[in-house]
Amino acid sequence: MKLRSIEHGTLYPPDTQQLADDNGGLLEVALDIPDVSTGLFDERLGSLDAPYRSGVWRYRELMPDFPDDAIVSKPEGNTNLYHEARLDDLAGVEVWFKHEGENPTGSFKDRGMTVGVSHARWIGASVVACASTGNTSASVASYAASAGLPSVVFVPEGKISAAKLAQTIAYGARIIQVRGDFDAAMAMVRSAADRYGLYLLNSLNPFRLEGQKSIFLEALQQRRWQAPDWVVLPGGNLGNVSALGKALREALHAGLIVEMPKVAVVQAAGSAPFAAAFERGFDGLEPVSAQTVASAIQIGAPVNYAKAWRVIRETEGLVLAVADSELLDAKAEIDRAGIGCEPASAAGLAGIRRLVNEGVIDAGERVLTILTGNLMKDSDTVIDYHLADPPQALSNRPVVIDSSLDALDEAMSDVL
Ligand SMILES: *Cc1c(COP(=O)(O)O)cnc(C)c1O
Repeated sequence: MKLRSIEHGTLYPPDTQQLADDNGGLLEVALDIPDVSTGLFDERLGSLDAPYRSGVWRYRELMPDFPDDAIVSKPEGNTNLYHEARLDDLAGVEVWFKHEGENPTGSFKDRGMTVGVSHARWIGASVVACASTGNTSASVASYAASAGLPSVVFVPEGKISAAKLAQTIAYGARIIQVRGDFDAAMAMVRSAADRYGLYLLNSLNPFRLEGQKSIFLEALQQRRWQAPDWVVLPGGNLGNVSALGKALREALHAGLIVEMPKVAVVQAAGSAPFAAAFERGFDGLEPVSAQTVASAIQIGAPVNYAKAWRVIRETEGLVLAVADSELLDAKAEIDRAGIGCEPASAAGLAGIRRLVNEGVIDAGERVLTILTGNLMKDSDTVIDYHLADPPQALSNRPVVIDSSLDALDEAMSDVL
């Protein structure tokens, strides 16, 4: 195992925290992957033993090589893959929803954190830190508590949901609210990491992305090792699409898939620097001042751009942007199907619909989309949508009645 520059392939040792090559370029973890068979991973399904019961460490041969006693696992993963006819009807194509909101702290960030915090423990880090739109901070706080490490998180003041803030407070992190946006909080944590030698757990950290590869691996296994034609996911800091790309490359190399699925990243229109760069033929990233109701992807200067555009190129994929209104309607549909997700997660379905309508995704193709976070992560947005005046497409207003049977009859009339 080594760290490798994605720009010029230079190798670095893995047993310290290093976040950039000599020119400031991104690093990835270079693994020596042994021959693996799907049978090995199938045997571990349903295991009660640590660490293999984790939906990350089940694929240990494709993960960084740490000793058992360094591994901090809840365990995470083992999330449902929903595939139902009524959901296909919503999308206009066959869709599998990988529900990462079912992780221990309610988002896919836990899959990255088990590997990132294990690396921190392996190298003897004393304090871990991140900047966050809310989910990373909740996950860092929780995994640091499990590892017995103090954590410091930087969040943009007033720009993360109440539930995510509450979670992070409850798990005991030192929370620093920065006046400014996520990008300002990110700049602060980078200074703090340099100044105090904190171990950084943002998606710049190549070990975190290793864990996030397991979203695809687990979905592939749940589909009995049949790859989908497309993987569609929301993009903010672009760590997850970078992890997905690495998973696809390694799965191809290991013979777990025979062809790369196409990858489509969906951004919110008010926070879409990656979609804009795609339109310009990836001539470079122009940061934007990000605005969207989907706070998890409200990021104007994604740090993983250099990894992410390569994934789109390699898979002949694409990047698109959807309006907040499309995203909220898609969210309401996923919620009403009894599954539920946070706003950013619904960008996937909103994007799929657009691509099916435009004929980019073919009616016969199979699509995997990642529901990145849990419905309960942002209840304010649910209430705002359903109580809005005038009503939204799928508004479900609670009714208030006097305690009389006449009032009850009226309230029940359209239910029966
Ligand atoms: C972190 C997050 C994203 C964005 O993932 P990136 O790796 O930053 O692109 C999307 N949705 C949710 C719910 C998240 O927590």
